[in-house]
Amino acid sequence: MNLTKSIAAFQEAQKHIPGGVNSPVRSFGSVGGNPPFIAKAEGSKVTDIDGNEYIDYVGSWGPMILGHAHPQVVEAIQQTAALGASFGAPTETETEMAQLIKKLVPSIDMVRMVNSGTEATMSALRLARGYTGRNLVVKFEGCYHGHNDSFLIQAGSGALTFGTPNTPGVTEGTARDTLSAQFNDLVSVERLFEKYKNQIAAVILEPITGNMGVIIPEKEFITGLRKLCDENNTVLIFDEVMTGFRLGKGGAQELLGITPDLTTFGKIIGGGLPVGAYGGKQKIMDSLAPKGPVYQAGTLSGNPLAMAAGITTLKLLNEMTRFYDKLEETAALLEEGLQNNLNELQFNGVINRVGSMFTLFFTDEKSVKSFADVKKCNTALFAEYFRMSLESGIYLAPSQYEAGFVSGAHTKEDIQKTVEASYMAMKKLK
Ligand code: PMP
Repeated sequence: MNLTKSIAAFQEAQKHIPGGVNSPVRSFGSVGGNPPFIAKAEGSKVTDIDGNEYIDYVGSWGPMILGHAHPQVVEAIQQTAALGASFGAPTETETEMAQLIKKLVPSIDMVRMVNSGTEATMSALRLARGYTGRNLVVKFEGCYHGHNDSFLIQAGSGALTFGTPNTPGVTEGTARDTLSAQFNDLVSVERLFEKYKNQIAAVILEPITGNMGVIIPEKEFITGLRKLCDENNTVLIFDEVMTGFRLGKGGAQELLGITPDLTTFGKIIGGGLPVGAYGGKQKIMDSLAPKGPVYQAGTLSGNPLAMAAGITTLKLLNEMTRFYDKLEETAALLEEGLQNNLNELQFNGVINRVGSMFTLFFTDEKSVKSFADVKKCNTALFAEYFRMSLESGIYLAPSQYEAGFVSGAHTKEDIQKTVEASYMAMKKLK
């Protein structure tokens, strides 16, 4: 594979941008090699500036559920741009977006748009604190909720990949207000509620995780969290930035049958443009300014271009026949192919998949259900597998601690090529 132009572009970028990238995992820091610089993308494929084409399972880390450059999304953005990019004044499309989200996610009475997933979780936490008059938040080791200070404690995703789950720059005071518990371990949460009675404002989690790889919550864990929050008047926040509108119209909460108090969104609701949102119960959302005392604002919040791309994406997801069923079928085919490879080659690994989110864990364990299990993975082996995959034109997330995403644009042929490339890579690594 010729990466001549990408190598030059990365060298130039490193002179001007820290690490050459605007988000750490893009640097391929933990897997090695030069990241391809992307020129364009269409459907299930991305093309780099040297002209190499890859089947893409990153999908911009989640937003591109319809595939890249979907014609209707492109058209919506173009038409809206011609009318002016931003006004800083109310528009009807913001109400339309709110109505759509409410229709698809029944736990949402009111919703506020922001510009990223980070802003969504940061604002939801402030709201929970303002509403309850309490300071503490419980999060789970390995879960990632963006780069707000409060959540960079035992964080997943890039923070975990780069060995900085507790980053420098977060004050001791902030760190003290964040309590860490173990995913799928209700007792670890009960202990915190006993120790900090009437002090916990919120419990936040990825209801189905993606940022330490895909982990599915056990029934008693997730129902137990709901019960604990009810008993202690604590706000239960589902961070559905990744899972929202991906694991079905109603997200992970619909799949799990649990109603959170607040939900955060991002990624898909922006159709590839910078967006986040948070919403939930009326009585909590009423605390937000200008109605209530909890302040939160944004120059570009509800931006017309982002609303156009997001609304078009959500409408298509809602209206396309059997969209999520077909997505499930494609993703199931991929899982089956990868599992067959593991079996046939007697290669140790565990595949966790929910709908179009999947992770192949390079581990000798029989299952991966907790952060402790995730940490046992062989990241060096993953890195080799990653590089071989890229060489064969398969673009995976450049870290073991991430989810892969299948889109509506992936074809059976894409899956077949991916499974074949994976077989060859596993065979060499055996
Ligand atoms: N929450 C979750 C669950 C996420 O996956 C992410 C991003 N990967 C975020 C929050 C932060 O979103 P953003 O990168 O848009 O700030």
